[in-house]
Amino acid sequence: MNRPNFDSYFLHQGEKGLHAYKAGMTLLTEGITALYKKIDRPFRGGTPDALQKQVEGVLSFTQDGQAFEDVLSEIEGPVVQSSLHVSHERSMAHLHCPPLLPGIMAENIIAVLNQSMDSWDQSPSATYLEEGMVDWLKRLIGYPESSDGVFTSGGTQSNYMGLLLARDSYCFKMWKHDVKEDGLPEGAHRLRILCSEEAHFTVKKSASQLGLGEKAVVTVPSDRERRMSMPDLKRILNELKGEGLLPFALVATCGTTDFGSIDALQASATIAKEHGLWLHADAAFGGALLLSDKHRTKLDGLYYADSITIDFHKLWYQPISCGAFMVKARESFRFIAHHAAYLNPMEDEHEGIENLVNKSVQTTRRFDALKIYLSLKVIGLRRFGEMIDHTLELAGYTAELIRTMDHFELKTQHPEINTVVFRIRPLSLKEEEVNGLNRSIQQQLYQDGGGVIAKTSVEGVTCLKLTLLNPRTSKDDIHQLLSDIERKARQFTNGGKALV
Ligand SMILES: *Cc1c(COP(=O)(O)O)cnc(C)c1O
Repeated sequence: MNRPNFDSYFLHQGEKGLHAYKAGMTLLTEGITALYKKIDRPFRGGTPDALQKQVEGVLSFTQDGQAFEDVLSEIEGPVVQSSLHVSHERSMAHLHCPPLLPGIMAENIIAVLNQSMDSWDQSPSATYLEEGMVDWLKRLIGYPESSDGVFTSGGTQSNYMGLLLARDSYCFKMWKHDVKEDGLPEGAHRLRILCSEEAHFTVKKSASQLGLGEKAVVTVPSDRERRMSMPDLKRILNELKGEGLLPFALVATCGTTDFGSIDALQASATIAKEHGLWLHADAAFGGALLLSDKHRTKLDGLYYADSITIDFHKLWYQPISCGAFMVKARESFRFIAHHAAYLNPMEDEHEGIENLVNKSVQTTRRFDALKIYLSLKVIGLRRFGEMIDHTLELAGYTAELIRTMDHFELKTQHPEINTVVFRIRPLSLKEEEVNGLNRSIQQQLYQDGGGVIAKTSVEGVTCLKLTLLNPRTSKDDIHQLLSDIERKARQFTNGGKALV
């Protein structure tokens, strides 16, 4: 029987593979550049039903395959064009960044090499590049030599890891109890995690996955700047202890999702130390300020944290997914290490072979470290910091502009990072109608492509939110967006006439 020929399906040293790779990449880059020339809005519109039907139209497979070129043109409209174009200047809803070109290029190298970061034999040089990036991050944070870290899929995983290590380290310290081996101890139902009311929802999600239940998370009120209130934190800690509960972890958020506020790190560290709490800093959003000469001091004291979440697919502009989890005491990773005979046996350790699976909750894992490495190499540290600074400057400008505008209510008095929260409030509308108006404006802007912005709720009222991540977004974009919002409000209130 003849061996069927699969040569043009893989990249290999043979002519067929090389040719297919090159031809495919050429088609791809030509297709994408042609498409980007045409993109004039962040989203081209379409109801959920229409989009779903459109995608269903391309969900069939043939027995013998189709030419790559034909498949590309088949999906261009229904899948590619109907995507949210995050690189567009007016895509500013979430912490969802335009990816840097070196990061996009790195994705291709990552896919071609397809290293798996779990064991050294599957990622020999990549292991050292990731470790090198972890070392670089340690120095950037100001962490001691005894600290360590690992790349993760993002903030959710990093927060989960921080709380997992915090839980297991506490149980070991308190009761000499080994959670990895024996499961949760008897006193587990009394364990408590503290964080501000503005903290990310993944703190609760982690608590539930860690067998503690969402009830284990106690939220501390935030102050006027939307930072965790330190007097309230102290009061709550004493109350919890008075009730016989066991606070073991404190999460300080460095860059809250809505307001970008940064909890007081030094004060949190002092309180954490006094009460024997593991301090986890969720710097998924704000961590990138470490690169900014102007704003780095906002993260003073980050190095006090026992563990830190950094998210490269946000303000570090990497393609999804790319994150890091950092821990101050390397030996804490023992709480998740598991030695499998086929993958990372103990003998390896004795021989000095590093298997990164020892530090991760994932097994097979992407070589994502290459993306941020390549981006920092190509762009340079100073330029990188300037990009971030620019977005903070634009957020400050936008807030000041909104403050001066009639019928607008600014909620972010002084943007700490680059989010701006506000609402439009025509005097002629009743409070209930204002919520509806803001919701409707956000939806209309999404559908007609005027701008992709977010909605959120602040003290029970619907607000609009801009996350100004894109360093290419200009003041003109902001002016145009705000006048679009005003126009839509006029149409909503009184048939297009002046706002009152
Ligand atoms: C985005 C974010 C997370 C979640 O991170 P993912 O990368 O989406 O998993 C957690 N905390 C904060 C503060 C965030 O901004």
